[in-house]
Amino acid sequence: MTFLHRERATLEAFMPGLDAALAEHPLDRLESAPSPAVQAFRTAGGPGLLVPAAYGGPGATPLQAVRVQRAVGARCPSLAVATTMHHFSVAGLVRVGSPDGPEHALLEAIARDGLLLASGFAEGRAGQNILKPHITAERRGDLVVLNGSKMPCSLSRSMDLLTASVTMTDADGVERLAVALIPAQSPGLTVRPFWRTPVLAGAESDEVVLTEVMLAPEQVVLTEVTADAVPDSLNVAGFLWFELLLTAGYLGIASALVERVLNRAGGGADDPTTYLVDIEAAMLAVEAVARAMADEEWTDALLVAALQARYAAQDAIARTTATCLAALGGMAFITSSEGSYLASAATGLTFHPPARGRMAGPLRDFLHGRPLRIG
Ligand SMILES: Cc1cc2nc3c(=O)[nH]c(=O)nc-3n(C[C@H](O)[C@H](O)[C@H](O)COP(=O)(O)OP(=O)(O)OC[C@H]3O[C@@H](n4cnc5c(N)ncnc54)[C@H](O)[C@@H]3O)c2cc1C
Repeated sequence: MTFLHRERATLEAFMPGLDAALAEHPLDRLESAPSPAVQAFRTAGGPGLLVPAAYGGPGATPLQAVRVQRAVGARCPSLAVATTMHHFSVAGLVRVGSPDGPEHALLEAIARDGLLLASGFAEGRAGQNILKPHITAERRGDLVVLNGSKMPCSLSRSMDLLTASVTMTDADGVERLAVALIPAQSPGLTVRPFWRTPVLAGAESDEVVLTEVMLAPEQVVLTEVTADAVPDSLNVAGFLWFELLLTAGYLGIASALVERVLNRAGGGADDPTTYLVDIEAAMLAVEAVARAMADEEWTDALLVAALQARYAAQDAIARTTATCLAALGGMAFITSSEGSYLASAATGLTFHPPARGRMAGPLRDFLHGRPLRIG
């Protein structure tokens, strides 16, 4: 049994050949855009991971999916981040879909043709609540028209479809969160450079601009979320998938650093627990929530458990990456940027919604019996 054996075996079962294909490239090649990792992911059948068997996919369970994400993050940090956005969008489609609804054909196409989904919730403003988008979907005759932009938006240059949060007024005049499904080839959709750091550049997190993009009404799904930002069951499910897949991917990135420490020349006599316990415990917490997703109701309490696992992972990553860099030593730091790159990339978990600082008030209120708000 080697480190990451279980995760890599799960990855191989669902995406045969991907781990070996990624391992052929140097890390800096995988981490710059365009990254060969995106095509390797498609070739290995990665886009179908969460598509249920009824639609022609392998229907990975949450537990299997988080193990896959950790293994992916351990080879290619950018691919783990980018595919988190894809997988959780697919999970959302599965949730809203009915066997005879329009999502049916789309899910089949994702499994069969390897379509990639991007997810645009952020709009490039610090302090913005991601459940309160500024883009409005305006009804015009038989169509819905979108204007605005989403940034950063991972997979912006490789996506086949964009799922984007918008604000839409319902039949009663109430503004609600809605999710629009926009084909990448839609007239009026363009992509502009946005991501300016080399860290995680392979995730293609650029800006997607929507100018008079016209959709049929069935391409925009209204949720129950209004200005109070209390997530409905669709959003609770979306956040659950998102937080777990994301955390597992970033734990994978930190694991790549741990692996380098365990395998370094002369490292055999070390106490391995120094590098392992924090990161393994954090992954066990992620797995515990993933297991609960298989046999418990998906409540806001379960989402709070997922958030606790994620914030614990942030702390575990901070401690482990510092310890690992010290163990690798100054000469490794000087002669290769890989260690410091992985440490920096793993810190990215801190920057995804909802940030820990933002959730202080909502979590306090939740502990006093109020409904969970996001940010
Ligand atoms: C690698 C990567 C890829 C990404 N890809 C995507 C993508 O594909 N799609 C997408 O939609 N988004 C994506 N994002 C963006 C992400 O979703 C966030 O929206 C964005 O990073 C938030 O930026 P921010 O931290 O400046 O803003 P904020 O979350 O607003 O936080 C800014 C700071 O202020 C603090 N803060 C803010 N509000 C409060 C408050 N009320 N109380 C206390 N403290 C507060 C936060 O804790 C934080 O320290 C990606 C981000 C990264 C890092």
